[in-house]
Amino acid sequence: MRILITDKHFPGDIDVEREAIGADADFDVFPAGEQVSDEAWRGCDALLTFRCTPLVTSKMALMERCRIIVRGGVGFDGLDLDGFGARGVAICNVPDYGTTEVADHAIAMMLALRRGIVSYNDALRADPAGNWHYRHERCLMRLRGARFGVIGLGRIGMAAARRAAAFDQEVMFYDPYLPPGADLATGFLRAETLEELLSSCDAVSLHTPLTEQTRRIINADTLAQMKAGAILINTSRGPTVDIDALYEALRSNRLAAAALDVLPTEPPADHPLINAYAAREEWIDGRLILSPHSAFFSVPGQRDLRRKAMETIAAYLGGRGLRNCVNADALRLNR
Ligand code: NAD
Repeated sequence: MRILITDKHFPGDIDVEREAIGADADFDVFPAGEQVSDEAWRGCDALLTFRCTPLVTSKMALMERCRIIVRGGVGFDGLDLDGFGARGVAICNVPDYGTTEVADHAIAMMLALRRGIVSYNDALRADPAGNWHYRHERCLMRLRGARFGVIGLGRIGMAAARRAAAFDQEVMFYDPYLPPGADLATGFLRAETLEELLSSCDAVSLHTPLTEQTRRIINADTLAQMKAGAILINTSRGPTVDIDALYEALRSNRLAAAALDVLPTEPPADHPLINAYAAREEWIDGRLILSPHSAFFSVPGQRDLRRKAMETIAAYLGGRGLRNCVNADALRLNR
């Protein structure tokens, strides 16, 4: 079998992949999707992609032999589930490699803002002796008794909610896809509407997939529903937040702060919010934290991701079943 890796961005050899799949596999490995040759697209029986989902979709017609595409990560936006399903190509993700890392990251961002870590650190770097005192930072807040809102109580949302509760916060979630009783099972408050959550939470953390329903779920209207002085945390997918509207909400002081691991355009494009952050404009200093879509990352997590992706391919091509298939309906319809 021939396996194409469209964008190997991790250092070192593909030792984890070889070990997971055994000696029968041949690999075509490229550092970036744009460099993948037509021959490699045509010749692969299986494909692993990390950051090239739209590119893979655009090469569908070339992929004559391919039977399975694995997205090395949780999100699979950009892959044409129905289109590939119609050609009999299974699409799978790896949903369980970085759940705790992303949840930790969201909580770390909340703590950094609410305990003033970012502002104190910046101030001390500027003047270690002169700034050796506490200040009433805009974002600083007692966590005990505050309300932490989770939009999307799935794997990561649940892990974040448990962590938030450990800081003696009251957790509320909005997730219309969970069955009745999810509140009783978890002990978290259920919001029946998004507005109910937004209007009563001191921190709102996004953990949904990117879908037509969640694209810009945080926009000018929903930001206006948020409690004054709240903070927004996004470790899900960049396009869930309209950053034009976020800029206005921070500029007008409606929101105290935001922390974003993901952006609508990655790496960041020229945008007033990003420019103000980069220039350390006074009004935003300490009120916006960015990280480079790195919430998932840890060395063991990345090895888990690579191993699980290959195990999914090996199981399917070896006739041992399909794991974590995200286009099962389209596949079934076309069999
Ligand atoms: P999951 O599928 O386990 O959970 C998602 C939850 O969102 C589900 O419970 C679902 O019912 C809910 N949901 C769907 N649509 C909703 C809506 N319109 N309103 C409210 N809730 C809705 O997914 P997960 O593994 O927890 O991943 C969550 C997000 O984190 C995904 O967007 C994923 O791409 C992202 N992610 C980011 C990183 C990173 O490095 N920043 C890493 C891994 C995953």
